[in-house]
Amino acid sequence: MEGSKLMDRDEKIFRIAYIDNNDYVNGCDEGLCISIWFQGCPHKCPGCHNSHTWNFDDGIVMTNEQLLESIFTHHHDNGILRNLSVLGGEPLCKENVNATLFIIDKFYEKYHDLSKIFLWTGYTMEEIKNTMPKEVLKTLTKVDLLITDRFEINKMNRLLRFRGSSNQRVWKSKKGFFGRKLINITETLTNID
Ligand code: SF4
Repeated sequence: MEGSKLMDRDEKIFRIAYIDNNDYVNGCDEGLCISIWFQGCPHKCPGCHNSHTWNFDDGIVMTNEQLLESIFTHHHDNGILRNLSVLGGEPLCKENVNATLFIIDKFYEKYHDLSKIFLWTGYTMEEIKNTMPKEVLKTLTKVDLLITDRFEINKMNRLLRFRGSSNQRVWKSKKGFFGRKLINITETLTNID
């Protein structure tokens, strides 16, 4: 992706593994959320619990606009506000990154006072900063909690909050004097009781 220009976000077609409009599990302790599992992952971490999402030819074909419409339609079903969780698969690989940026930008624009956004990626923060177009990091500063890094089975710990292995890092978006930025809060997190 280095140096490449992202494609027209409105035209992008990609694949979704699954959508849960009533997810109580992947909401980072913040309540009900709409969870989007993108199809396709280049990392193939040994021990991955979502290996059915690896194949880029599986899943359901969607457009950016179809996915956004689905999210907005269910955002406050039954009068209950939902957050947005973006998972995979890999939301930031070249096949999925356009759709990921599109839905985050639109969701944030409409609901940032009401709802939170969470995103899990296997990429490291260093890869995001050094190998991806600058607009990826810019949009990710709108994500309330960002979990980065591959899952490493030899560092697996079921008591860790928001992540599966101890090498993975958690970043919180904060508004600063020069705009939003992502702060590494991994060391401040307590384990699950
Ligand atoms: S990045 Fe996530 S979905 Fe991809 S192989 Fe690793 S654990 Fe599985």
